[in-house]
Amino acid sequence: MAELGRICNPTERSKASLQLETILYNRQTEEAKAQHKSNCPDCVLEGKANKEKIWDFKDMEADNIRAWSKGGPTNLDNGQMLCKRHNRLKGNK
Ligand SMILES: [Zn+2]
Repeated sequence: MAELGRICNPTERSKASLQLETILYNRQTEEAKAQHKSNCPDCVLEGKANKEKIWDFKDMEADNIRAWSKGGPTNLDNGQMLCKRHNRLKGNK
């Protein structure tokens, strides 16, 4: 993943973000399916109707993606995918 940290062209950068999101999404979704729980960790925590919902990639957004784009560590452990609702709830705090 080291090469992602050197990308400075905006188009290339968003492509890199999408790549990270896809990796995160796949990892989280596989784990979630194996454990019969939602792939949104906040939906699991909430424990309501969506606690076992597997969201589509298009219905999720990456948490911490802004930190990456500001030059934060390009590290898969620095981010997670949340459903859009939870990501927005977090962003408003
Ligand atoms: Zn959620």
